[in-house]
Amino acid sequence: MRYFKIRRLDVTNGPGVRVTLFVTGCSHKCPGCFNEELQDFEAGKIWDSKSRDEIIEYLKNPMVVGLNLLGGEPLEQTMDTSLRDLLREVRAMDKSIWLWTGFIFEDCLEDEDKMDIIKECDVIIDGPFIKAKRNIKLKYRGSENQRVIDVEKSLKENKTILHDMK
Ligand code: SF4
Repeated sequence: MRYFKIRRLDVTNGPGVRVTLFVTGCSHKCPGCFNEELQDFEAGKIWDSKSRDEIIEYLKNPMVVGLNLLGGEPLEQTMDTSLRDLLREVRAMDKSIWLWTGFIFEDCLEDEDKMDIIKECDVIIDGPFIKAKRNIKLKYRGSENQRVIDVEKSLKENKTILHDMK
């Protein structure tokens, strides 16, 4: 896996104070992409044990309630198990995990590699960014087609259930 940066304290993505990992590589190429330089799979640094230690250390801060995964496309980080392994560790720390993807949730259900990552998340924000549907008033997403999905409830009830935004 490769990544661009780790943001130690992020209050702009997801609820509460969170750590954010920006991975690199995304094949969606949405026109108007907010992180175009992160579409390149060769961009950024190679993920290693130091990167892992850094993020785990930041997550130990009691103020931090969870981890965000942004990119790039986190669900295309299946060239190795780095991301899945990290998420398993973070879950054990009792921190929430939110992931932003350009894929549609229902399209991922039969894809074992993507589900290995999704299953570790509490919430995913799905769907590509669509410029014509851009709405700056939306919480946690950029365009109206994107959904904020409760992963655990959706998998348990076998239907897509939106996250309660209260
Ligand atoms: S999915 Fe996200 S990172 Fe990828 S092209 Fe679309 S907006 Fe950019």
